[in-house]
Amino acid sequence: MKSRWVEAEAAEIVAHGAEAGITRDLALRLYSTRLLGADPKLVLHGGGNTSLKTRARDLLGNEIEVLRIKASGANMATIEAEGLPAVRLAPLRDLRAIEAIADEKLLAIERANLIDSAAPNPSVEVMLHAFLPYKFVDHTHASAVLSIIDQPDGEKKCADAFGGRLAFVPYLMPGFGLAKKAIEIFERAQPSDGLILSKHGIVTFGESAREAYERMIAMVSLAEDFIARNSEPRILVTEWREPEPIASVAPIIRGACCQKDEKIEGAWRRLVLDFRGGPTVLSALQSDLACLAEGGVVTPDHTIRTKNGPLVLPHADAGKLDGFADATREAVGAFVDRYRDYFARHNKRAAGAKQELDPLPRVALVPGLGLFGLGRTKRDAAIAADIAEEWMAVVGDAERIGRFESISEADMFDCEYWPLEQAKLGARKEPPLAGQIVAVTGAAGAIGGATAKAFAIAGAEVALLDVNLAAALEQAKTIGGSPLAIACDVTDGGSVRAAFDQIAAHFGGVDIVVSNAGAAWQGRIGEVDEDILRKSFDLNFYGHQRVAQAAIKIMRAQGTGGCLLFNVSKQAVNPGPNFGPYGIPKAALLALMRQYALDYGADGIRANAVNADRIRSGLLTGEMIASRAKARGLSEKDYMGGNLLGREVTAEDVAQAFLHQALALKTTADVTTVDGGNIAAAMR
Ligand SMILES: [Zn+2]
Repeated sequence: MKSRWVEAEAAEIVAHGAEAGITRDLALRLYSTRLLGADPKLVLHGGGNTSLKTRARDLLGNEIEVLRIKASGANMATIEAEGLPAVRLAPLRDLRAIEAIADEKLLAIERANLIDSAAPNPSVEVMLHAFLPYKFVDHTHASAVLSIIDQPDGEKKCADAFGGRLAFVPYLMPGFGLAKKAIEIFERAQPSDGLILSKHGIVTFGESAREAYERMIAMVSLAEDFIARNSEPRILVTEWREPEPIASVAPIIRGACCQKDEKIEGAWRRLVLDFRGGPTVLSALQSDLACLAEGGVVTPDHTIRTKNGPLVLPHADAGKLDGFADATREAVGAFVDRYRDYFARHNKRAAGAKQELDPLPRVALVPGLGLFGLGRTKRDAAIAADIAEEWMAVVGDAERIGRFESISEADMFDCEYWPLEQAKLGARKEPPLAGQIVAVTGAAGAIGGATAKAFAIAGAEVALLDVNLAAALEQAKTIGGSPLAIACDVTDGGSVRAAFDQIAAHFGGVDIVVSNAGAAWQGRIGEVDEDILRKSFDLNFYGHQRVAQAAIKIMRAQGTGGCLLFNVSKQAVNPGPNFGPYGIPKAALLALMRQYALDYGADGIRANAVNADRIRSGLLTGEMIASRAKARGLSEKDYMGGNLLGREVTAEDVAQAFLHQALALKTTADVTTVDGGNIAAAMR
């Protein structure tokens, strides 16, 4: 591993910081923290932490000594000064006299000593940083170091690898106890470069940011050299077995890794998937599967992302999906039973005080295909997958130089069910569509865009499908979360199937489809060219059928119901003069919706429609509004509000109607009118 420190970059950050009132020390602290955070071989997603001991003024203007410590969960790669809250150092140092202290009480003391009372919580490792007598302290979970210390004889291997430059601290759960133990060992051993925290990570220190950082790089390089020197070569005998594509495998896994809501009939607790393949993952699955299957994290804070072990599935051989589906459901059932048993056993030790987390896996391994991260959001799934990839690399190297050994199951439980993590559970309120995946067609248009946005706000993962990819990408930028934009021409069956394959491969499946793409054609029905009628049917009827069919295939593979929503239009029940080419396929679409509701109700798949009218969009442009209003002798406002309520209906109103139908779990074959009131178009 090479140092990424560039003196010119450091000088620039110092100069830039000076303009914002940031001291040289703090600017360099930010610089080296970002350097560490940018390398996944050192830290991942909020792991690791750094600190600086410096002087600052409190709110009364008194100069005091403070510890600037990374905030809990802050990302080192992108850290700013606010991510390193300042805590009064003297009271923290005084805590060394105390034998033990509960995590909640320790946090209360830390918060009471923050210079800015609104600052985020300091890292769980804050006391370790406070006790060490160095200006700069860096802590990472470097992969190469973990491969050496996650071993039954980790202490001996460390002595060989680092030659006494790092003192060895036996495993203790991160927190006050570990900090006390570490400082005792530090004072006794007086190591030159830092500490090893057994089965957890590495700490380096220095009087300058560069010294602490470059010691980290030097120690990790020693670890890499040790692994290279001591690795046993392995010969792999591979048998090529063609797997099913990810798009077919993912919905089966996603459907199996689901929980029925005990309280609401028809509701499911779903997860989103994130796939990783590639030669490194595949060869690890082949050579280390038995060891990986036994589980065990490589560093304690991974338990909250990956649980204590992965779900291990069989090969997904081509042409044998039914067998794979059965085996997957069985494996998930066994995983859940094992997890519940693990919780019950260790919760007894905690006097029954813990609140059980969902028992579903967060990492799934499929030999010959790759790994899936699972999470309540796409982002969480990707974090689990990132951690799983690094976990596999660490375990692989550990096995190459000896035998991988994790912390005990009890220690993993204590990290997964840490009191401060448990306290967050009650405070967290999830949006109503968390864990659900929605596809919207015609997503670049006014109604499609508003609908994609409304579903994203409701917590769903959103795929925006449109014939115009550039416009879909633009629309995706305006909504939150991690949207996916896909080119899709609903008049082409191959394009629709490919788009839904892409959704399944990217998110793991689909739960809700808003089939919205459409366009208007006009003509007096007795004289209209048949080609126009066929064109309109192809888009306004068959387009919806193709989309619904592709979605049904995935929903049935998941086996957890689903919801089809169609943009029908009031034309289906209240035709306008010369609008036959548009209204007639829409009338057929209304029948299509009812047929889906009828044929798939038993699968828990609902089908509903929205009949909207007079919405500003690509179908009703500003120009058209102006000419129609003029033809009727009305102002534009009166034309747009020409309904019983006298109110203009917007794309956002239509989006809310789709959202309502998605959430109404006991409603199917429903038509919701969004037209401000039009008795001639009323359904009943
Ligand atoms: Zn750590």
